[in-house]
Amino acid sequence: MSTEALRIVWIYPDLLSTYGDRGNLLILARRAALRGIPVETYSVRSDQPMPASADIYLIGGGEDGPQALAAQRLINDGGVHRAVNQGAAVLAICAGYQLFGHSFFAKGAKCPGLGLLDLHSDRGETRAVGELRGDVDPRLGLPPLSGFENHGGRTHLGPNAFPLARVTAGIGNDGQTEGAWAGKILGTYSHGPALARNPAIADLLLRWATGADSLAPVDDTWAERLRAERLAAAGA
Ligand code: GLN
Repeated sequence: MSTEALRIVWIYPDLLSTYGDRGNLLILARRAALRGIPVETYSVRSDQPMPASADIYLIGGGEDGPQALAAQRLINDGGVHRAVNQGAAVLAICAGYQLFGHSFFAKGAKCPGLGLLDLHSDRGETRAVGELRGDVDPRLGLPPLSGFENHGGRTHLGPNAFPLARVTAGIGNDGQTEGAWAGKILGTYSHGPALARNPAIADLLLRWATGADSLAPVDDTWAERLRAERLAAAGA
């Protein structure tokens, strides 16, 4: 890994990446490149050691079995824990979001998570499936969240994690709040992929990772059209 480039790791593509979550990596790299920020991307499979020295880590959603296996391997590996302790930024989606918490349920069994977000997940009575929309924590300065959700889990935040958004359509964590953030870790139930639906979150991650207060604007005409269409669909 070179020292100058922004290093982005896609965690365990062999286990977790539903509903186009891998698009988050493409969008993040593209939005960095548009600002002249050199980027190196790495896809680290679950049978490979996890580097601790990257700047941004992305993890996707998945089914219960691969989710439990991913959590076990990430706990044994320790690389993500070291990276977070060194100040890396993280975007975690759905199964990836749940496994960043203290515990989650997969196939009826309670599984330990990484404990890097102060939250735990249990199961809801029904699956949450459909469009998701929310008003984001004003401290993050982001426009409304848009996404697609499909999960059986329900997530409960402890005092050291903040809700990412207040739900205005869909279920999210529990029908009231959606996602969580703490430090430079951001978790959400939004697929879509999340960063195509919410380019402002991509820019937030880039600012967290580079320390920049602001980034040069880019042409978001198409992203805004997608957002307008999906946000309207969520309200229908
Ligand atoms: N297996 C988890 C659940 O159903 C996460 C699903 C997902 O990542 N889409 O709650």
